[in-house]
Amino acid sequence: MRIIIFGPPGAGKGTLSKSLVKEFNIPQISTGDLLRQSIKVLDEIGKEAKPYMDAGQLVPDHLAIKLLKQRLTDSDTKKGFILDGFPRTQKQADELEHITHIDHVLNLKCSKAVIIGRVKNRRICLNCHAIFHLINMPPKQEGICDQCGGQIIQRDDDNPTTIEKRLGNYKEQTETLISYYNKKGILRDIEAEGNIDGIIKVAISILSK
Ligand code: ADP
Ligand code: ZN
Repeated sequence: MRIIIFGPPGAGKGTLSKSLVKEFNIPQISTGDLLRQSIKVLDEIGKEAKPYMDAGQLVPDHLAIKLLKQRLTDSDTKKGFILDGFPRTQKQADELEHITHIDHVLNLKCSKAVIIGRVKNRRICLNCHAIFHLINMPPKQEGICDQCGGQIIQRDDDNPTTIEKRLGNYKEQTETLISYYNKKGILRDIEAEGNIDGIIKVAISILSK
């Protein structure tokens, strides 16, 4: 099963993806995580991507496409995968057509007010990329990941100025892809303002049909 999860930053793509990984036993591919990993080790892609990410802009298409292509050569992706954060532009969607066939696109719908609240309180594990929320899903021990004991941090780009920019990019560059996949008949909307357990249930029922 090959799935794309769409939605503005903070809509819960990462959290939903991680639950679907367990349910369907296929990997999550987050281009954001892959980029942060490249930046951490400062490889060629990381060096080129960092200024864009820090500014809340999309990185150039060729970087995201290269990371995705590399990841799809891993054997764990043969049975399927969940794309979280890719494609984000029409160019990326066109490229994806050449690489693979997509079965389902889930579109998480969430208002700006809810997004701002979520992103402000979002924390991630530097090591395993687990996602926390200081109020709704706090780690058991402050600053320490429940799953791996790694350090929990706030992403550099999770600040009020950058989130506004990222929401703007989403409207301008990514939202048009919703009608593109809708025309293909594989897109399903999910109301994503409620609690995450409800969202997961709806997603699983759509994908299990
Ligand atoms: P969010 O969905 O909350 O913005 P991500 O981790 O998916 O979080 O993305 C963080 C940043 O990584 C984006 O703002 C962008 O700079 C970069 N990025 C991730 N995926 C892509 C992509 N497919 N194309 C271009 N830039 C990307
Ligand atoms: Zn961790």
